[in-house]
Amino acid sequence: MANRRQFIKLSFMGAGVLAVSSGAYGAIKLLSSPEEVKKLKVDLIRTPTYCEVCFWKCAGWVYKTSDGKIWKIVGNDEDQHCNGRFCPRGTGGVGMYYDEDRLKTPMIRVKERGKQVFREASWDEALDLVAGKMKEISSKYGAESLALYTHGSGSTYFTNLFKAFGSSNIAEPSYAQCRGPRDEAFLATFGEEVYSPEITDIRDTKCLVLIGSHIGENMHNGQIQEMSDAIDKGVTIITVDPRFSTAAGKSRFWLPIKPSTDIALLLAWMHEIIYNDYYDKKYVEKYCSGFDKLKEHVRDFTPEWAYGITTIKPDLIRKTAKEMADASPAVIVHPGRHVTWYGDDTQRIRAIAILNALLGSWGRRGGFYRPAKYDVPSAKIPKYPDPKKTWMDAFPGKFPIASSPVSNAIIDASIPENKPGFLIRGWFINGTNLISSIPDQANTLKAIQNLDLIVSVDTMPMEITGWADVILPECTYLERYDMLRVSPHRKPAIALRMPAAEPKNNTRSGYNIARGLAVKLGLEAFFPFEKQEELLDWQLKQTGSSLEEMVRIGVKTFGREADDLYFSENENVTFSTDSGKIELYSKSFEQAGFDPLPKYVAHEEPSDGYYRLIYGRAPMHTFGRTSNNPNLTDLMHENTVWVNPKVSKVWGLLAGQYIWLKNQDGVISNFKIKVRITERIRWDSVYMVHGFGHSQKQMKRCFGKGASDTQMITKVMTDPLMGGTGMRGNFVTFVTNKSEQEVVS
Ligand code: SF4
Repeated sequence: MANRRQFIKLSFMGAGVLAVSSGAYGAIKLLSSPEEVKKLKVDLIRTPTYCEVCFWKCAGWVYKTSDGKIWKIVGNDEDQHCNGRFCPRGTGGVGMYYDEDRLKTPMIRVKERGKQVFREASWDEALDLVAGKMKEISSKYGAESLALYTHGSGSTYFTNLFKAFGSSNIAEPSYAQCRGPRDEAFLATFGEEVYSPEITDIRDTKCLVLIGSHIGENMHNGQIQEMSDAIDKGVTIITVDPRFSTAAGKSRFWLPIKPSTDIALLLAWMHEIIYNDYYDKKYVEKYCSGFDKLKEHVRDFTPEWAYGITTIKPDLIRKTAKEMADASPAVIVHPGRHVTWYGDDTQRIRAIAILNALLGSWGRRGGFYRPAKYDVPSAKIPKYPDPKKTWMDAFPGKFPIASSPVSNAIIDASIPENKPGFLIRGWFINGTNLISSIPDQANTLKAIQNLDLIVSVDTMPMEITGWADVILPECTYLERYDMLRVSPHRKPAIALRMPAAEPKNNTRSGYNIARGLAVKLGLEAFFPFEKQEELLDWQLKQTGSSLEEMVRIGVKTFGREADDLYFSENENVTFSTDSGKIELYSKSFEQAGFDPLPKYVAHEEPSDGYYRLIYGRAPMHTFGRTSNNPNLTDLMHENTVWVNPKVSKVWGLLAGQYIWLKNQDGVISNFKIKVRITERIRWDSVYMVHGFGHSQKQMKRCFGKGASDTQMITKVMTDPLMGGTGMRGNFVTFVTNKSEQEVVS
């Protein structure tokens, strides 16, 4: 069993490298705590922020030198998200500010789409053009013909703008391409989602079960710190993964499952827990409905049955089920985050939710705690107009339990041949690179050809900005205010982000861009404060604080209204489900025509010579967003393809050799990728880190480095319940040169 020190060292391994790396800026030293900064005899000015390098939103301090150079970011000691420590990616956020390839000024396309010929424009001209086109499309086809794709902090402003304009077609790819199935599964079971940061009480857990969850490589800061503490306390970790991940290396049990068979394992665990009376009877009787139906449902799903499917031996299934039961209720079967794998993902996460319910972990210490959130008052704005049509009218009846617009459905509604109920004619894209975040690139490019307007707001010249008609350059999070961070956590808290420097070049904040457009569209009343700092100060004063106070402290944490972090003994709890109970058997799924209890269905296997493509994260990068970051590129500038030694022997592949990948539909990767030969991946699969293989030449540092997993994902297994795009049903083989000279086995 590894100890805390070893795990932190591994998980935060980039931090040590950063401390000695001169990176692109010579003298910049990247340290990890405010104490270290204090020891330095330099005049520094500090301003509060919360990190935008990933969605964990850790609060920190930005230090700059007296001549105004941003120099260092460290964690805020008072922040529950990070406890004073930033991860390597967050520390490397300075690189986003200094990246010389950033977008610098508004641009207007002058030749046909795809040619990437633009001219520079003033903000006034660019916003006039966008507002004019939006009005034109709206008057011809209705405001609902415009869709917003959005990600990150700016979502609040552009969502406000779109709702004010009359369109509710506002999609976050993080729903259908990432977390949506888990949101819907937990909502259907407990009437509540698991939020971000997740409400997993890892610090007090006795047993943590990770199913394809890459904690340790996926740098969810506070979660990793809690996991490290839990390791010190002797937590049992059970990792289910076809790959020997960082977390697997810290686990008491590693179950190298055959990919796509997780539901079978989950059903066998339920069988063991129910038929051995391991489940929390009192909890299930008091809080759950549908137990008898579940018991009958899993009667035949024995460990022996699951062995034939998962390749996990029955003894190991039994032993791990008992481990969970012994730790109950201080056990977490982790809901995961990027869970869109095989198209039956909502059902798989339902199985995870049900297992947690049987173990009595929801609302219990060491399981899932009850979050608290600070309510910040909103500015008074007019009522939004009722949208005439929503994305659901494009394909009536599709994805009936989706609680958010589905990004891929909006792409489909932009293609006339699909005969949608109404056609989407314009995309406004904020902070998301649709080319690499949404699978089936050919479909996205087909939709792009049909659009009357594409606007892209971004900090970097991503692939999607190359397709835009108008590019609106946003400044980085280090140069702007944003909304107060109010994410739910153990205690309610607020955190401030403010500019540490003026926006570089001719860039603007998201608030400024959205408000500027609102003014041009006659929707100024929806943005009653001209400057965001005025809005923040007004909001803070309603709460008894002020902008001045928050500039000093960065984070303000409040007490909980009641001592209710966990359910109290015999507490009567009404869950926000139809029955008011935890629904083991989902009547709402049944009414919508879906299985009320999860079932295992076999998925397609790779054909001879092909291997299932599995992808994941690296500790120093956030998807493709950081691939050009000078500090982080120093740590990892390309991805590798993990190949099992048995496979490399058959194919004659050498460690370090560059190859191309070719998928089941004949698509060959644009760029080559280095082979890593390792026992840490099963023989039937290969693995690569997501976010590389950029084809946008303007990103000079990351162009052509490594291969793009998204390019290989041409087959999408769509979740019929909520529209999530299952992406792990793609298979690749190896090509040694681009002239189609395949390796002969
Ligand atoms: S986990 Fe790391 S990258 Fe994410 S918000 Fe925190 S410091 Fe930033």
